[in-house]
Amino acid sequence: MSSTGVPFRVGQGYDVHAFGEGDHVMLGGVRVPHDRGVIAHSDGDVVIHALCDAMLGALALGDIGKHFPPSDERWKGADSRAFLRHCDALARERGWQLGNADVTVVCERPKVGPHAQTMRELLAQDLSVDIDAISIKATTSEKLGFTGRSEGIAAMAVCLLVKS
Ligand code: MG
Repeated sequence: MSSTGVPFRVGQGYDVHAFGEGDHVMLGGVRVPHDRGVIAHSDGDVVIHALCDAMLGALALGDIGKHFPPSDERWKGADSRAFLRHCDALARERGWQLGNADVTVVCERPKVGPHAQTMRELLAQDLSVDIDAISIKATTSEKLGFTGRSEGIAAMAVCLLVKS
């Protein structure tokens, strides 16, 4: 039982990266071919960054910038899956594990759907949960705002942690 007496914890996360030079974007650990890349210190994986922030939020441990500061050379070009595994370890050390997570990617392009299943498999591996605990969805923003103008890509995540 947690200090609040409730055997569940909920968290939410949000992340954005601007498009820049490049030929792919990393999404949920998958290298997705695209005519742009993203500007980022790490690999700029908005799916994983939003999910990490959701897990850290559920644990009330601050945010991804606190745990993996862009000023730290260790994280330059980092594989964001290492961030996710670290967040999972923080949860498990405290007696929690992921119950389920739901992530929504917002962009006009690239198309996320064809890669969603692979993303689910990779994230489920990193979090040691069944694939049906991980949902990846996508939407456009109907050509509105920065995502609609294809200036960048965003992701939102919610997760539930349960007592392990
Ligand atoms: Mg980020």
